[in-house]
Amino acid sequence: MNNKRNLKKIEADLLNRKMELEQKLTEMSKEQFSDGQVQDPGDQALTATMESLRMSLQDAEVEEYRGIAKALERIKEGNYGLCADCGNSISEKRLQSFPGTMRCLACQENFEEKVGQGALHSL
Ligand SMILES: [Zn+2]
Repeated sequence: MNNKRNLKKIEADLLNRKMELEQKLTEMSKEQFSDGQVQDPGDQALTATMESLRMSLQDAEVEEYRGIAKALERIKEGNYGLCADCGNSISEKRLQSFPGTMRCLACQENFEEKVGQGALHSL
């Protein structure tokens, strides 16, 4: 197994994806500026719905973008593929689905449980 070559390929893929997302996000933010002129209240409600839909879409893109940026940073540091919590290596399958992940599945589940409880608590 040639880990180094593999990492180069991963890094190249991540860079490509990052550029794609950058373009997408730039276009989306342009769109947001161009169609902000609706006066009718009914239309405004619809616009608000569309807007929040678009925002949540953009959130997902931004989230992915951040994940990729994080992954690239971790490749540079030489920590890529290692769980930030327990230090075990993260499965390749998981890294393919979530390139920006910082935790192995078990630790991620623990983490989300904690975050979930925290969110409930703050309500
Ligand atoms: Zn872990």
